[in-house]
Amino acid sequence: MERSNCDVLIIGGGISGTSLLYLLARYTDIKSLCLIEKYDHLDPLNSNAHNNSQTLHEGDIETNYSLEKAAHVKAASGLTKTFALKVLKDDTIIRRYGKMLLGVGDDEVAKVTKRHAEFKELFPTIELLDAQGIADLEPNVALVDGSLREEPLAAIFNPEGYAVDYGKVTEGYVAEARKAEGKDVDVHLSTEAKHIKKVDDGYEVECKDRTIHARFVVVSAGAHSLLIAQKMGYGDNLSVMPVTGSFYFAPKVLDRKVYTVQNDKLPFAAIHGDPDLTAPDKTRFGPTALVLPVLERHNAKTAWGFMESFNFDDDVAAVLWELMKDKDIHNFVYRNLGYELPYYGKRSFLKAAQKIIPSMKAHDLEFAKGYTGIRPQLIEKKERRLMMGAAKIDQSDGIIFNMTPSPGATSALDNAREDMNSIASQLGSTIDSAGFTEFFDEPASVEQPEMTGAGHL
Ligand SMILES: Cc1cc2nc3c(=O)[nH]c(=O)nc-3n(C[C@H](O)[C@H](O)[C@H](O)COP(=O)(O)OP(=O)(O)OC[C@H]3O[C@@H](n4cnc5c(N)ncnc54)[C@H](O)[C@@H]3O)c2cc1C
Repeated sequence: MERSNCDVLIIGGGISGTSLLYLLARYTDIKSLCLIEKYDHLDPLNSNAHNNSQTLHEGDIETNYSLEKAAHVKAASGLTKTFALKVLKDDTIIRRYGKMLLGVGDDEVAKVTKRHAEFKELFPTIELLDAQGIADLEPNVALVDGSLREEPLAAIFNPEGYAVDYGKVTEGYVAEARKAEGKDVDVHLSTEAKHIKKVDDGYEVECKDRTIHARFVVVSAGAHSLLIAQKMGYGDNLSVMPVTGSFYFAPKVLDRKVYTVQNDKLPFAAIHGDPDLTAPDKTRFGPTALVLPVLERHNAKTAWGFMESFNFDDDVAAVLWELMKDKDIHNFVYRNLGYELPYYGKRSFLKAAQKIIPSMKAHDLEFAKGYTGIRPQLIEKKERRLMMGAAKIDQSDGIIFNMTPSPGATSALDNAREDMNSIASQLGSTIDSAGFTEFFDEPASVEQPEMTGAGHL
């Protein structure tokens, strides 16, 4: 059994763990860093380009974001955008497609119009489009057989809308971390943290063939983070509800990302259509939202981990009961169950996709096999509520746990900035604030809003 030491050990080779590795390596004086990932490559799960919608969420078209929340999300997403544009400089990794928020029918048109008026100061590049304006940019959205579709239409269009291959960004963070001078940066793949033990001067993390001692540990293990936390006695007030998302492919019918107005009661975007950086000749529609009792979509062995961190009791039952009593949510759940069924699924999904492309036919759609991820939505048991966004457990005792539903990829660097500050203050290390600000044009430390309200989609 190999033994090693490091200052900070990060568990999880997705975008959350690697963005922190990058920040600690480049902007602190912490000398030795280690990251472990249980699979044999980086970004195997939710951060992989196939398993999320590749959207840089900035707050303009996400109808469940208030103006205040959008201001925070915009700044947070700016960090990711800056890294990808300045360092990776590759339009197969980050591309400006433009994005639209589409309103269909009188109510949604009113909502979109009001949102444009309220948000245009924060997002000076957004434009309000009428049906003809939409047709000029995205004819398949506004036209049927060459004529404007019957329903009233309006859209917010932002030419500054980006798609990001978060898997490649994940790899970019590691590559940049490794370039940091005077640092030991170790990345161990195929290395699963099996057990974490508190010791006098930090933590010991046991893996199959090595034990790593670290002064500080950060668990950024996606849907697994809560399970790991609870095994150590943290987060008993939380329960995880894994919501998988799948996609359908259609031939290329859109040039831009087209989102629709979403249900405010739900922490998920309504179905949208997106260009796919990994499949340029197609348009990807989705994601669906189906609650499944696993922590990884295609890994039945993770069902047991789900059972443990689902933490079912009267409080969880009460939250689920409240949700299912709501007619909109009830219908949403059943609709999404239907989307995943063979034969019927495609036909049922077609109705949702036709809101965006009215002339779409069932034979245009093909289930995107293998394109699927899990959003670990959290239930706060004592308060008996579904949390709408990410969560963090940081009790200033040398260990942090990150739970990262959508849009966790967009906000990973912002979240890592918060962790960097906490780690530096707990270990007595120094942050190169000037270097951070020079590169990102953002302060190295900011007041974070309530994590539960930090954002979701
Ligand atoms: C359908 C869908 C659509 C989405 N769309 C968007 C979007 O458009 N924009 C956006 O910003 N976000 C989106 N998200 C959210 C985003 O994908 C996630 O929030 C983000 O990828 C989470 O990154 P992560 O590193 O925290 O988790 P993950 O990418 O899940 O990484 C966690 C890593 O930890 C590893 N791990 C787990 N346990 C252990 C262990 N014991 N030891 C070692 N390693 C371990 C796992 O193997 C994994 O590699 C979407 C998510 C889904 C599911």
